[in-house]
Amino acid sequence: MQLKDRVLALRDRVQAAAERSGRSPDVIDVVAVTKTVPVEGIREAYECGLRVFGESRVQEAVEKIPQLPDDIEWHLIGHVQSNKVKHLPGLVSWVQSVDRPDIIDKLARRFGDQGQTVQVLLELNTSGESSKHGFSSLAEAHRAAGRIVELQALELRGAMTIGPLTENESEIRTAFATLRRFFEELQSAYSELRIDTLSMGMSGDFEIAIEEGATMIRPGSVLFGPREM
Ligand SMILES: *Cc1c(COP(=O)(O)O)cnc(C)c1O
Repeated sequence: MQLKDRVLALRDRVQAAAERSGRSPDVIDVVAVTKTVPVEGIREAYECGLRVFGESRVQEAVEKIPQLPDDIEWHLIGHVQSNKVKHLPGLVSWVQSVDRPDIIDKLARRFGDQGQTVQVLLELNTSGESSKHGFSSLAEAHRAAGRIVELQALELRGAMTIGPLTENESEIRTAFATLRRFFEELQSAYSELRIDTLSMGMSGDFEIAIEEGATMIRPGSVLFGPREM
């Protein structure tokens, strides 16, 4: 299958999953994850009409993004080391991986210095897997939200998680339901803000994520083929 066909096939699956769960497919945004995909591959996806992409590593983003059209919306979706935050303003407009308190003020300072704002999601570790980043304490995540909303350069838009690596569907659902509950708590705590983004679901589990309420999915390999790790 060509990329064009994979994009169409993904759209069909998103639509079917949305319909199954009584939701409109229009409320589900797709962030095409391009980590390890060379610039030519991303350009091809752009030519298929995709405009929202996600990169996982800052260094790779720094190398690739300037070579691509500037009407792309870029999301940083991977763990950001503190000393890499300075590269992000002007490069990405979203950081989905706000996974610890100390990155919050660093983002605010770097984006604020450039007079920019960045859309952010709080990343929860909903699987309990120690290899995963993200807040594992809900109380800490709520405290982080409280800090973010005080900062002008940061706009809190919602929450993100990576589902557990398992074939066990009910474990995956439980993780996504946990994120959804946290997301709804944010919405009621900050009802005056635009908390509208529940980012969950990758190539292997995006249909479950949609059924559990995802408004944003992050497929990579289903579009670009398997990665060598
Ligand atoms: C790699 C990655 C994805 C995409 O994974 P696939 O399984 O290739 O769809 C999505 N989200 C995050 C945070 C990732 O690191």
